[in-house]
Amino acid sequence: MAMIDPFGRHITYLRVSVTDRCDFRCVYCMAEDMAFLPKAEVLTLEELDRTAGAFVRLGVRKLRLTGGEPLVRRNVMALIRALGRHLQSGDLDELTLTTNGSQLSRYATELKAAGMKRINVSLDTLDTATFTAITRWGKLDQVLDGLRAAKDAGLSVKINTVALKGVNDGEFDQLIAWCGEQGFDQTLIEVMPMGELGEGARLDQYLPLSVVRAKLKTKWTLDETDYRTGGPARYTVVRETGRRLGFITPLTHNFCESCNRVRLTCTGTLYMCLGQQDAADLRTPLRASESDEPLEDAIRAAIARKPKGHDFVIDRRNQAPAVPRHMSVTGG
Ligand code: SAM
Ligand code: SF4
Repeated sequence: MAMIDPFGRHITYLRVSVTDRCDFRCVYCMAEDMAFLPKAEVLTLEELDRTAGAFVRLGVRKLRLTGGEPLVRRNVMALIRALGRHLQSGDLDELTLTTNGSQLSRYATELKAAGMKRINVSLDTLDTATFTAITRWGKLDQVLDGLRAAKDAGLSVKINTVALKGVNDGEFDQLIAWCGEQGFDQTLIEVMPMGELGEGARLDQYLPLSVVRAKLKTKWTLDETDYRTGGPARYTVVRETGRRLGFITPLTHNFCESCNRVRLTCTGTLYMCLGQQDAADLRTPLRASESDEPLEDAIRAAIARKPKGHDFVIDRRNQAPAVPRHMSVTGG
């Protein structure tokens, strides 16, 4: 059964934030003193499994777990193994993860065994001091060890790098060369105006990828490709390394016409668009009945009002974020 929204887009991709918690405090994502959700509001692993299962029945072919940091959720492997059954049955094409990499040394082999093939790992810098400045609580060595473990386990890795003015913009050449050596694809992400982070922070960090790309072209040959994932990324291939390099530019590009995705938070709230506030409560129908029928009805009703597009603006007069929730709520 397919889910098709009012604009004819097939919804085949669900991102699930399995926790709002994280062991890092990246400056563009969280404030240092974040207040996290009380446990009663967070779906149990069984409830997350049930909800994801309903989406798979309704036509979702790709599931991505995110967070917060998905691998800090207690017993998360039980959920991942449970979701792996949809791969075995052929109802799902892909089960994947976006992670900060801190727990990969521990989990890489199990992730592969559960059926994951590719994962996204966020890494903005290879410099220890800059890594600490960005993540506040993260340890670069731990992430590099995790990446090694992922490679050894046979997982393909894509590196996500948020471009930050005056922070890591001098390092992109080095990161591209390093990804080439490691055999990793990479996407550069433009910082998005989400969540309150403190006075002026957002405008200071914003670096348009059009500027980055123009500069990269003086050193690298970026061959255009038509490789697409239905999301905002536009991919090139770096001729010198043979690896893909993607650019995610939500602020300067319109990608909504091909949007195939919706996002579920760990409280069971479904966001139909990353850039809009409208959301559907799935937790109430989920908890109201042992039958999945009310849940599936609520999902269908939500898809029927997926908006046409978003409206991100970094407003120079009004410094409030365009979307007040933090990225760690919907997981990017
Ligand atoms: N903790 C995991 C991680 O860092 O990969 C998963 C969740 S994190 C919210 C998902 C992605 O969103 C990361 O690649 C992160 O760099 C990115 N991100 C967080 N806040 C952002 C922002 N304000 N603008 C753009 N990307 C952001
Ligand atoms: Fe945590 Fe990921 Fe947000 Fe960094 S970007 S604070 S690792 S959720």
